[in-house]
Amino acid sequence: MGAKEGFIQFKRETPLTRNPEERIGDYKEIYEAFPAENLNHQAARCMDCGVPFCHNGCPLGNVIPDFNDAVYNKEWDQAIKILRSTNNFPEFTGRICPAPCEASCVLGINKDPVAIELIEKNIAEKAYELGLIKVSPPQKRTGKHIAVIGSGPSGLAAADQLNQAGHEVTVFEKDHKPGGLLRYGIPDFKLEKWVIDRRIDFMKQEGVIFICDTEIGFNIKADHILQNFDAVVLSTGAAQPRALNIKGDKFKGVHFAMEFLGKQNQVISEEIHENPISAKGKNVIVIGGGDTGSDCIGTSNRHGATSVTQLELLPKPPKQRNTLNPWPEWPMTLRTSSSHEEGADRMFSILTKEFTGNEAGEVTGLTLVDIEWKEKGGRMTFEEIPGTERTVPCDLAFIAIGYMGPAQNGLLGSFGVEALENSLPKSKNYQSTNSKVFLAGDMRRGQSLVVWAISEGREAAVKVDEFLMGTSSLPQKDESFFQVEEQIAGIN
Ligand SMILES: Cc1cc2nc3c(=O)[nH]c(=O)nc-3n(C[C@H](O)[C@H](O)[C@H](O)COP(=O)(O)OP(=O)(O)OC[C@H]3O[C@@H](n4cnc5c(N)ncnc54)[C@H](O)[C@@H]3O)c2cc1C
Ligand code: SF4
Repeated sequence: MGAKEGFIQFKRETPLTRNPEERIGDYKEIYEAFPAENLNHQAARCMDCGVPFCHNGCPLGNVIPDFNDAVYNKEWDQAIKILRSTNNFPEFTGRICPAPCEASCVLGINKDPVAIELIEKNIAEKAYELGLIKVSPPQKRTGKHIAVIGSGPSGLAAADQLNQAGHEVTVFEKDHKPGGLLRYGIPDFKLEKWVIDRRIDFMKQEGVIFICDTEIGFNIKADHILQNFDAVVLSTGAAQPRALNIKGDKFKGVHFAMEFLGKQNQVISEEIHENPISAKGKNVIVIGGGDTGSDCIGTSNRHGATSVTQLELLPKPPKQRNTLNPWPEWPMTLRTSSSHEEGADRMFSILTKEFTGNEAGEVTGLTLVDIEWKEKGGRMTFEEIPGTERTVPCDLAFIAIGYMGPAQNGLLGSFGVEALENSLPKSKNYQSTNSKVFLAGDMRRGQSLVVWAISEGREAAVKVDEFLMGTSSLPQKDESFFQVEEQIAGIN
């Protein structure tokens, strides 16, 4: 532990953000650089707890107190070694993770938690700057060939680990460039895409082969993959959007969020010339109060929308934790994202009833009603509040109410993988019902987070390595950790 009383001496500080009015004029990251001296103070706030709850709060099991100490002592070489020992891509999570580690930091009981995510990002960037992240291909090759299908964070983590174990890894991706939702979902103002390119370049130099613009099951059949590879990792995500299913949802101007967000990222990377959906001068309504909805707000404001309103079915969460939601649980509190700061009306406890439109088939309005949540027979239910039904102007609507699991395109069946009733594939310790096919990421656990996808890719890699070699020296989390996780996620 570095400073003895750093947590008393220094307050939590995070980077300044660029002025909202200025930043909605571009798609660059919103944060200013963080001064090195202040970062040292932030690392000094860590108490090096006897039982570091942060470490348990992180799905990757990041060894947080140890890298905090290394940062405090300016031992960057040590800091990146510790961080990379559990996390292949700290430059991603350091930018976009909701940081469950911070929610469970012991300091958070009665003070602001340690700024762990900020420290993580700075370790990664400093390590690149100082040349501490080096191209390091494996010393020996095993002669085993592995196909990773899907290049989101779970596929990338699996590929990185399996390559390091000496296997020949080929990543197949249906999109034009690797990265999955990191590249074609998460907006550039949260994660600029050069960050992904930089990492992919390292992986290529270390021997991972990327084959893009290739949809497995369509351009290459599953049988061909099964015949030509010793093992397969399916990491194709859970991109099937949940439909709203209300009257009028086929009017022009009603879209799933990803139709808008994915295209915008392609415009920025100059893969396409313009977004077929424009929010300029429109009254935009975003249905769904989560992160995807928030990304639609940020992107609509950058297009120059006239107004942006976000609707949420659930009631407004409290500002502070309540007694039923104590530390170190994830706080169910009101979150204000950087996109909210840039301008949006937020409405809670709202039920959407029907889209209205004109003769040209374009959406013009949305009928909604206020609801009241009540507990009935131990379950929360809602009732409409009489007299509150109204129609509000709506020229463009984005549906962002979650995802239903993997795309229903027959891919799983073609690999001989059975699915559960909830459409997620059956798996036992990341292995599917076809013993040479392993599963990782959102496609196995349902839509989740980048940090979970990386964790899934790493753990699946261990199981593939064991399957091929009988044993594995790849690092892995305690067996009991993921058994509990699988029970919680209802995966088995
Ligand atoms: C708009 C949005 C914003 C988000 N923001 C955040 C955030 O801020 N922080 C966070 O932690 N999480 C965020 N998430 C969630 C996070 O992006 C996902 O949990 C994560 O990317 C899942 O990783 P994955 O590797 O399992 O799948 P994905 O990232 O979905 O990657 C799957 C890949 O498989 C490819 N593929 C599919 N089928 C085939 C096929 N047949 N052949 C070849 N390739 C195929 C797809 O093209 C895709 O590239 C966000 C999600 C969305 C949609
Ligand atoms: S819980 Fe917080 S204060 Fe304790 S070791 Fe982890 S980061 Fe440091």
